[in-house]
Amino acid sequence: MFSPGSNPLPAEQENDWIGPAPQVMDALPGPKAEQLVRRDVAITSPSNTREYALVVKRARGSVVEDIDGNRFLDFAAGIAVCATGHCHPKVVEAIQKQAADLIHICGSDFYYPVMVELAEKLGAIAPWAGQDKTRVYFTNSGSETIEAAIKLARHKTGRKRIIAFHGAFHGRTMGSLALTASKFKQKLGFGPLIPMVSHAEYGTLDDIAGNLFTRHFPSEEVAAIFVEPIQGEGGYNIPPKEFLPALRQLCDKHGILMVADEIQSGIGRTGKWWACQHDDVIPDVVCSAKGLASGMPLGALITKESVMNWPPGAQGSTFGGNPVCCAAALATIGLVEGSYMENAVKMGEIVQSRLREMAERHRCMARSRGRGLMIGFDIVRGKNREQNNPDLRNRIIQEAFNRGLLLLPCGETTIRITPPLCINEAQIDVGLKVLDEVLATLGK
Ligand code: PMP
Repeated sequence: MFSPGSNPLPAEQENDWIGPAPQVMDALPGPKAEQLVRRDVAITSPSNTREYALVVKRARGSVVEDIDGNRFLDFAAGIAVCATGHCHPKVVEAIQKQAADLIHICGSDFYYPVMVELAEKLGAIAPWAGQDKTRVYFTNSGSETIEAAIKLARHKTGRKRIIAFHGAFHGRTMGSLALTASKFKQKLGFGPLIPMVSHAEYGTLDDIAGNLFTRHFPSEEVAAIFVEPIQGEGGYNIPPKEFLPALRQLCDKHGILMVADEIQSGIGRTGKWWACQHDDVIPDVVCSAKGLASGMPLGALITKESVMNWPPGAQGSTFGGNPVCCAAALATIGLVEGSYMENAVKMGEIVQSRLREMAERHRCMARSRGRGLMIGFDIVRGKNREQNNPDLRNRIIQEAFNRGLLLLPCGETTIRITPPLCINEAQIDVGLKVLDEVLATLGK
């Protein structure tokens, strides 16, 4: 049995009623998990990339229980999705209530209160709130939101070209995949993707101004520039402070729409509703999904009113803005607004200072960085920690799992820490102790 810190959680923690974590009984995967993994790999798509054999039975707050009864502390939140924690009682209640009233009627064809309420709420928290009115188009996922944003940008501007950045991840549908430039494996064998998409170096405008706009095409051909205010899958890269404001200026100068992909960084994860707000930048379009509905499939294309002027029939979706998902999103936003965004700031500061302190002891750690609870650090080797060490990164993540801590990789050699925004200090402490021990064991 592996149980560090033996139950350090305060008894009143509303979100942890399945018990404290980590608590790993035996070698993983356990017998039931092993059997299910065997059934899964025999039938599901081999494209799934499972980091480790976690087979989940249920989860609450920041605690995940597998089908053998092992409990894990969740520093991954289903890829930064379970914003309010797993199965928050208020989110569950909202889902159950809505499901009993209305599950589907199609928001593209008819009206219902919960979709309007959510759109109004998103208008109230949009980066331009108070200055501009908002329009919202609802989707089912991040990729679909990006897809809709590409269509809207072309439709609105009458221009065809799109610029995205190296290291970007915007999704896997044919349009959003064309913008993705994170790992070539994600594109290999799928082309041709949509044409007239170009990539530039992230964090600087030199490539756009000095290369694309001089050697490849005039700026007047560009409909939109898509940017993650903090790159997610590409490695939790935070751009230099001047980057987003300069990009905003460039877009204004050339009549280009600035589209912020806040699918991973939005909904309070970084301690503000949107990561672009850390740099006081107001984009024209915000793409949201992931944390928006705490795990229910919902995306939102949120634009300044003037941008979304396509006519009836130009865009639509059968499931987009599903009532149950909208109810979950309203509950999520309420909770994030209530205390979780503030908690993300506090807990994020604790994590970052602990990581800095750990990096003094562990020579395999470098470049810890983050905002709120969107935090990453790199695993490296070499005298000056100058070489990436993805093999060790992967082994660290595996060993953390063996000891009951769920982590996810991103970029070439990064470990990300993206727990639910409700995580408490005791849980952060235990999780980082586990990480510390794993680094001490493997990182010598
Ligand atoms: N954009 C960003 C920034 C993302 O992180 C992701 C998902 N990792 C997507 C788009 C695509 O979202 P989905 O998987 O819901 O299609």
